[in-house]
Amino acid sequence: MAEAKTDVLIIGAGPAGLMLANWLSKTGVSARIIDRRPTKITVGHADGFQCRTIEVFQSFGIAHRVIAEGNELTEVVFYNPDDNGNLVRTARIPDTEPGTSRFRHVVLSQARVERFLLDNMKINNGLIVERAVEPQSLSIDNAVIDCLDAYPVTVIVRHLPQDNVSEDEAAITGGPESGLYRSNMFADDAEDAIPQNRQQAGQTETIRAKYVVGCDGARSWTRKQIGYELEGENSSAYWGVMDARILTNFPDIRLKVAIHSASSGSILIIPRERDLVRFYIQMGTIEPGQQIDRHALTHTSIIEKAKAIMAPYTLECPEIEWWSVYVIGQRLCKQVSLCDRVFIAGDAFHTHSPKAGQGMNVSMMDSYNLGWKLSAVIKGVADRCLLDTYRSERVEVAQQLIDFDRKFSGLFSGKPAVAEQAGISVKDFRNLWLKSGKWTSGTAIQYAPSLLVAASSAEKELLAANIHIGSHFESQIVVCIADAHPVHLGDRLISDGRWRLILFAGKLTQQAQRSRYEKLCAELVSTRSPIKQYHVGQDVDSFIEVLTVVSSERSAIDMTEYPDITRPACGPHGYRKYNTIFADEVSYHDGGGQAYQGYGVDAEGPGAAVLIRPDQHVADILPFDACVSRLSAFFTPFIRQVCQ
Ligand code: FAD
Repeated sequence: MAEAKTDVLIIGAGPAGLMLANWLSKTGVSARIIDRRPTKITVGHADGFQCRTIEVFQSFGIAHRVIAEGNELTEVVFYNPDDNGNLVRTARIPDTEPGTSRFRHVVLSQARVERFLLDNMKINNGLIVERAVEPQSLSIDNAVIDCLDAYPVTVIVRHLPQDNVSEDEAAITGGPESGLYRSNMFADDAEDAIPQNRQQAGQTETIRAKYVVGCDGARSWTRKQIGYELEGENSSAYWGVMDARILTNFPDIRLKVAIHSASSGSILIIPRERDLVRFYIQMGTIEPGQQIDRHALTHTSIIEKAKAIMAPYTLECPEIEWWSVYVIGQRLCKQVSLCDRVFIAGDAFHTHSPKAGQGMNVSMMDSYNLGWKLSAVIKGVADRCLLDTYRSERVEVAQQLIDFDRKFSGLFSGKPAVAEQAGISVKDFRNLWLKSGKWTSGTAIQYAPSLLVAASSAEKELLAANIHIGSHFESQIVVCIADAHPVHLGDRLISDGRWRLILFAGKLTQQAQRSRYEKLCAELVSTRSPIKQYHVGQDVDSFIEVLTVVSSERSAIDMTEYPDITRPACGPHGYRKYNTIFADEVSYHDGGGQAYQGYGVDAEGPGAAVLIRPDQHVADILPFDACVSRLSAFFTPFIRQVCQ
């Protein structure tokens, strides 16, 4: 039997697996990613990308592709029955509250976003998905579990025969006989739609890995191997979902619409890319052990239900790109790793209803949380204790989202009376939607204090009142000192595994403040500074990159007068970076000038340093005079000294 070694074996190449593969390929960690499907999906599945997910895509350099192909959502309208039972438009609200994020919700087929992630992995380090490969057994050698260089997890995989038909594909699409789901394929997906030419078909292989991550969906094989189960709701709702180009006299078909009809149920309508429209309709619920009758549920029954809910508006669906009926409950597995060697991520440890558009987004955010940590441990930068924060951070998030989803989904369940029974009047629906904006945009996540998140304090709140430790760092427009370009500060936080220290340096035209800033910069390159202690090779910014934002005028101080660490020499020829120092002022064309106010930092004050994790979550807020000592205290428990 063939044998191979890899640092990380990812099982499952859905959104969670591909997000992890992106991190590992970007940070240069050796990985393999297998999926039992013979081909990539090409249409359908999930379609809603939250603002926070787009921010993460931006950090990998692929947000522009998602935005260019997708449809950005702008407004949500609500229809409810009037006193006579006739549907009337009852409210209009923005899809996301202005100011939530620099990005908006984008809807686009999951298949396209998988395309962009796949392309990125290939560009990063040539990583590709090995398809039609299924794991058969998993074992762990406990004797070497704590040994950093060991490969304690052994997975035997089987390269499936060429004609294997994936069970998932058949289950999720309603079966190949529908014949609908392979239409409208994009040219750049053509290669992936053909099963790979696999010389190993039919053979088995032993893969020894340092870490295994099961991103293999709700029926996760990996989860079963490590003996865990999803727990939660006993009954599950089943949903009819359809992507179609339609004929209708409904006036709001290009908006996101929630309709509660008087007696025919509810529908969620999403205006998609390429003039498609997605319909979500809850068709019913099933009890444990019960199976849905897939033959009775066809695209015709979905359309009939949609017509009844939307009446008296008309609906014809001459072009259906994809449809499906799928069952989903709110379930959670609170254990997500075995010995911090085998992990599960995404639907493998939590499932949600589709109403709040959480599933795919949260799944990707799981592996986004795990990826940089695995990479830091494998590269010897961080201790293995870092990995436990994956459990503490993501299980908490999954639980919160399931609680939120349960409440939110009561509103969609069939007749208005059902929502009323859940204690939420349909009249309050709009208000709850508005209040839920932070959750549905993915920006509500705030990790609790831990090894990686310092506790908040009155002192820190005074330094930066609107920056919340544990939350992701929100973006403001600043102007680059060197080239006068307006820059979203969030765009500087690219996903490359580095930490960032943003120095809000204040008014450097005041001599006392300039001295304070220069003193800090000198300390940041002293031997007791984590920047110096933990950088790798000749680039001093390889572990922590320092960014500066001043409240003095951009033209007041030339960039060459800033301390070296703020625009460090990098690479073999010592080129200096230009895009590291910014001013909080109005740009010529694209706004700006509100960063200090937005972050709640005193523009005339003593300055504040904000430490940001590689996944853009704020780790700590530090005063200039204690910055280096507190940085040291923060990193010492989990960083292994790599540079003298
Ligand atoms: P999956 O997407 O299920 O991927 C798992 C992968 O693992 C698959 O490629 C599978 O082939 C592979 N695999 C499984 N078992 C094995 C095995 N034994 N060996 C090898 N490979 C294996 N979420 C949203 O956020 N927004 C939405 O709008 C939304 N709409 C949805 C609409 C539909 C119709 C459906 C079905 C789901 C929707 N979801 C939505 C949910 C979303 O699709 C999932 O939450 C998301 O895909 C989970 O990602 P994942 O990577 O964890 O798992």
